[in-house]
Amino acid sequence: MTTTTFSSRAQTREELSRTTFDLLVIGGGILGTSVAWMAAQAGLRVAMVDAGDFAGATSSASSKLVHGGLRYLQTGNLKLVAENHRERRALAADIAPHLVKPLDFVVPIYKDGPHGAAKMGAGVFLYSALSAFGDGVGRVVTPRQALARVPSLRREGLRAAAVYGDHQMNDSRVAIMTVRAAVEAGAVVLNHAEVVGLRFDRGLVCGADLRADGAEFGVNARLVLNATGPWVDVLRRMEDAGAAPSIRLSKGAHVVMRRPDHWKAALTTPIDRYRVSFAIPWEDHLLLGTTDEEYTGDPAAVRATDADVTQILDEAGMAVEGLRREDVTYTFAGLRVLPGGPGQVTAAKRETVVTRGKGGMLSVAGGKWTTYRHIGKVVLRTLGRLLGGDDLAAILPAVPLPGLASPDAVAMRLWTDREPGVRMDPLVARHLATHYGAIAFDLARLIREDPALGERIHPGGPDIWAQVVYARDHEWAVTVDDVVRRRTTLTVRGLDTSEIRTRIGEELHETA
Ligand SMILES: Cc1cc2nc3c(=O)[nH]c(=O)nc-3n(C[C@H](O)[C@H](O)[C@H](O)COP(=O)(O)OP(=O)(O)OC[C@H]3O[C@@H](n4cnc5c(N)ncnc54)[C@H](O)[C@@H]3O)c2cc1C
Repeated sequence: MTTTTFSSRAQTREELSRTTFDLLVIGGGILGTSVAWMAAQAGLRVAMVDAGDFAGATSSASSKLVHGGLRYLQTGNLKLVAENHRERRALAADIAPHLVKPLDFVVPIYKDGPHGAAKMGAGVFLYSALSAFGDGVGRVVTPRQALARVPSLRREGLRAAAVYGDHQMNDSRVAIMTVRAAVEAGAVVLNHAEVVGLRFDRGLVCGADLRADGAEFGVNARLVLNATGPWVDVLRRMEDAGAAPSIRLSKGAHVVMRRPDHWKAALTTPIDRYRVSFAIPWEDHLLLGTTDEEYTGDPAAVRATDADVTQILDEAGMAVEGLRREDVTYTFAGLRVLPGGPGQVTAAKRETVVTRGKGGMLSVAGGKWTTYRHIGKVVLRTLGRLLGGDDLAAILPAVPLPGLASPDAVAMRLWTDREPGVRMDPLVARHLATHYGAIAFDLARLIREDPALGERIHPGGPDIWAQVVYARDHEWAVTVDDVVRRRTTLTVRGLDTSEIRTRIGEELHETA
């Protein structure tokens, strides 16, 4: 059994209000979590809070890719691609090999498409060269070879295809594992805890006022990091009412649908000079997206609209046959945070913005999921300087996320376990192994104590009741959505029926 101690919410609130922390991180998306994890590893007293669920905003609304970003070649940013590749490979090899898996990508080249075979071939070759050919050599293949990888690829006008390698993940699950890593390193964390104001001492930010579980309390800290993603300017205005906007937002929507046939690779279809449409086999379904459109509304209200779904299906339909709207199981949208300034959002470079405000609060936003460790290190270096001079990032080793193990070995052991009540269906065993790594054995232990927890929540998917109990007791799940959207795959598969939501609600209230 893993040794992490899980405090109750009341205990955590108490600890937050009585300690003076070295660092308070506001925002528990992947950026905030990454910094909290690294700062705790470096030995700082760290607190992290989120107004909603950990990774409940942008960090669970991504395309789920751990990638170099093929389309950044188009903007000529080779350095960014090489840096992304380096982080991609570190995540896949050292940090989360149990949660991040390799995936081949096919770029179809059509008669009337925006790029020809020679250009695409050179592009994927350069792309793979920028990661020292660690995932094979990017190359051009025949239509037949492309169809062998993606059977529903549209054949009409298909001249050739380019092939390259990247990785994918379940972003919500990787984020929760990263929160757990931060807690194991000593961070104190609380979700569903909103910062409603900042605390000041002689003009300098020295903490925040929070609202959680109907209570109001304060957290004191030597330094405050604003990692609130799309809300970064809202927090900056709490520090300085006159702070000028530092970012712009661009909405990206996705569609999840039942997969018509077995895909061995994903599709990257060029739409125009800058944009591509992804069709990615994910969680036994097809993930389609994404849009890229300036957004000026309330970040909390971002949704995939009917028009977004139509655009995504139309664009994916340029390369995929047989897509039907009735097969859609889930839609979602998130907001890209782009550096402020003129220019079209689709052409803006996806870089990180780090600013320090009048009151000394550090704000970080932008970047990519793939490069969260890199961004974390940049912030940590700045924190080190502000707190006393040491380069805090310099001493940090590459620590793997909890549950590191071979998913194949874990699945095999779960499947062949002969103890009564625990012998699992191979699909469930595989699902747990690839979403929890060795932590799946903790779930098996729950099933041994109560065999009913081994039952599937819905016959149409591999999630089981033990995951709900585990989410409640060890993964900070408070609301039904925390469980169905981010701890399990029920919502993305369209299996979160009202009956299931009610039963999960009952499980969560057991400890309330
Ligand atoms: C459509 C789309 C697709 C993407 N696809 C990919 C991809 O495939 N691969 C990749 O590498 N990157 C991808 N990205 C980028 C990546 O998802 C983001 O860079 C990353 O998730 C940003 O994380 P964050 O922590 O900065 O923000 P968020 O995840 O948005 O976290 C900010 C948090 O702050 C909290 N917060 C806000 N206000 C308060 C407050 N007052 N008090 C407390 N907490 C507060 C919010 O609740 C939220 O959880 C994609 C982005 C988008 C939008």
